[in-house]
Amino acid sequence: MDDKLGVLVITAPSGTGKTTLNRRLVRELSNLEISVSLTTRSMRKNEKHGDHYWFISKEEFEEKLSSGKMLEWAEVFGNLYGTSLDEMHRIQANGKRPVLEIDVQGWEKAKDKLPNATSIFIMPPSMRALWERLKKRGTDPLEVRLRRIHTAREELDHGKHYQYFVINDDLDRAYLELKQIVLGREPTLDRQNGLSHCQKLLNECKEPWFAELHSELETMNQ
Ligand code: ADP
Ligand code: 5GP
Repeated sequence: MDDKLGVLVITAPSGTGKTTLNRRLVRELSNLEISVSLTTRSMRKNEKHGDHYWFISKEEFEEKLSSGKMLEWAEVFGNLYGTSLDEMHRIQANGKRPVLEIDVQGWEKAKDKLPNATSIFIMPPSMRALWERLKKRGTDPLEVRLRRIHTAREELDHGKHYQYFVINDDLDRAYLELKQIVLGREPTLDRQNGLSHCQKLLNECKEPWFAELHSELETMNQ
């Protein structure tokens, strides 16, 4: 696989601010291009086909998988998401660095195929802040938000598989830290402190308010 420039892999629990940060990054750094993923989830009202995602049917997705056209894929919140090899090659053929906005399962699958990749895990300042952001974004009903925050907890367990960490508390500061890593400079947050923050978030998931969210989800699923 031609990956001399090194693919950028950016993962964050849903609602952390990955889309906001990445859009800004590609606006400023013209050698980057976001790889548009395929998904079977339905389109949100502010999204466009081919911009945020290519929205396709489950049958089409499965056809691409069985014909070996995917770099990686995952089932997230009951929908299929994945990066097509064609999309990654198209970006590389244009001399650009693909930015893969994928989840932790996708990175597990793609890791061995992308030895030159730079992997970055973006985290919220706290789980409470993440919950507030999911609410404020206003794109998902309560049940979906509850599922997202619980998946976030599982994703944090995979933080250790990433090279670099960014905490998105102040957006401008987080952006500068992300850019620093992308440009190959010394990261502001070292790995040890990144892993400690990840552990702090996991500890927060043991607090009573978080357990209450879990009960709420279980009640809704009954
Ligand atoms: P993701 O792509 O990780 O799911 P989004 O980029 O959609 O997250 O951001 C989720 C919500 O949080 C949006 O409403 C966004 O405006 C807001 N947001 C992003 N970064 C910050 C930040 N640093 N502080 C406060 N709100 C933020
Ligand atoms: P959303 O539905 O909020 O756009 O995305 C939900 C989750 O799917 C996010 O965690 C996002 O990183 C993940 N995701 C989006 N595209 C891909 C992809 O191509 N591959 C994988 N593995 N995950 C993806």
